[in-house]
Amino acid sequence: MTFILVFFVTLQNKPQKHTQLMKASEVIADLKRRFPNQPEYHQAVEEVLTSIEDVYNRNPQYDDYNLIDRLCIPDRIFAFRVSWLDDKGKVRNNMGYRVQHNNAIGPYKGGIRFHSSVNISILKFLAFEQTFKNSLTTLAMGGAKGGSDFSPRGKSDKEIMRFCQAFISELWRQIGPDTDVPAGDIGVGAREVGYMYGYYKKMAREFTGAFTGKGLGFGGSLIRPEATGYGNCYFLQSMLATRGLEVKGKKVAVSGAGNVALYTTKKIMELGGKVVSLSDSGGTVIAPEGFTKEQFDYIFELKSYGGRMYEVPEKFPELKYYEGQRPWKLIKCDIAMPSATQNEIDGSDAEALLQGGCFAVSEGANMPSTPEAVHKFIDAKILYAPGKAANAGGVATSGLEMAQNSQKLSWSAEEVDQKLHDIMKNIHEKCVEYGKEKDGYVNYVRGANVAGFIKVADAMMAQGVL
Ligand code: NDP
Repeated sequence: MTFILVFFVTLQNKPQKHTQLMKASEVIADLKRRFPNQPEYHQAVEEVLTSIEDVYNRNPQYDDYNLIDRLCIPDRIFAFRVSWLDDKGKVRNNMGYRVQHNNAIGPYKGGIRFHSSVNISILKFLAFEQTFKNSLTTLAMGGAKGGSDFSPRGKSDKEIMRFCQAFISELWRQIGPDTDVPAGDIGVGAREVGYMYGYYKKMAREFTGAFTGKGLGFGGSLIRPEATGYGNCYFLQSMLATRGLEVKGKKVAVSGAGNVALYTTKKIMELGGKVVSLSDSGGTVIAPEGFTKEQFDYIFELKSYGGRMYEVPEKFPELKYYEGQRPWKLIKCDIAMPSATQNEIDGSDAEALLQGGCFAVSEGANMPSTPEAVHKFIDAKILYAPGKAANAGGVATSGLEMAQNSQKLSWSAEEVDQKLHDIMKNIHEKCVEYGKEKDGYVNYVRGANVAGFIKVADAMMAQGVL
């Protein structure tokens, strides 16, 4: 027994003599050759593989099972045409997709995105990231993502309903409470989840937790709408605490003005921080001394009925709108919380943030910083939390919604918020455990990737080649 234990510990910690060391650069080159024109997917895979290369190579049994290919390539991808009728009776066609990436540690789980930019590369990157993020939450959830190039902007309520129904008429056979549990993402909120869940329920003839982010009256969880933004703030608090800092009095630049951005702003303001920017795809509104509660409440309402950020100065002339610009070069801040979309902070934005004195970046969006930006943050040794750790509160609370649904009961807001707090604290601890470098700097990218990887990899090993 002692011998086995010693052998196991040795395997975990010592580089093994192994002829076939995994080289991240070679794996990426191979994936680029086999799956060309998928830049977001290549980018996400590269970031993870670079972080886990040495852990992988210290455990040669992974390579014996060619784990790396099986982890990088999704289990399966569904692609389908979605035909629907607009209000004028015209037939419209969009593409629909579901990427089921990995279910080694639980049913496939991940949001659905409706946005004109959606394509297979973006969904493969999101599903890949989701696998590691879900692993970090410690809940039993695999990784998936889906969506359509349908844009809800400018569509009537009935058009959105007809689209959601047509989308689910294709997808319903592939999802279910123990198979694959979708949720919201960009362009998909409680209304869209309601329409999709309703149609799923009709086709499957069952009332189960097949979706999360549902309305409170039919199985939704309290705090789920707030969870991604609130969770990001809790993660930020843990990061700041490592340097004896707090949110109070800090200037925080937030991008986006959707679910994640607005609840991030709400919590930052509650914690005594000053949110100095919000944006949408049209441009950015800057509040040099922080939005007041009145201004924030107005923006929250404006956005809830599809208003645009350019309308904000019409009500508050003291706030300036910058057409077509992102927040990062417009205002100095202590903390940046990108909460809109992928690759929204590039190298020059990162440079501007650092020059302006920004010492913490906590990502609400998925992969909002380009690789160049990430390198600049890490080289500058600022506190930098990648989305897969910092925004995991959303899917974690979805996991809590699944638990409530299967028990057919509802927890109070306080109970869910406390669990969310605990989960974010635990994710932070895992990142520190695996990401602390010799000089004490915590590389949260490495910490999150290694911690997420080990759990999924070990489960895959135990389950054999599938
Ligand atoms: P929403 O649709 O509610 O809001 C998205 C916001 O980002 C909108 O203000 C939108 O502006 C803006 N935006 C979208 N695309 C672009 C673009 N290409 N350029 C500039 N701005 C853009 O989405 P969420 O708030 O739910 O999601 C935001 C991010 O957070 C995404 O990366 C998502 O994957 C991630 N995330 C979301 C979770 C959730 O629980 N909702 C969980 C974890 C991560 P406009 O209205 O003009 O399009």
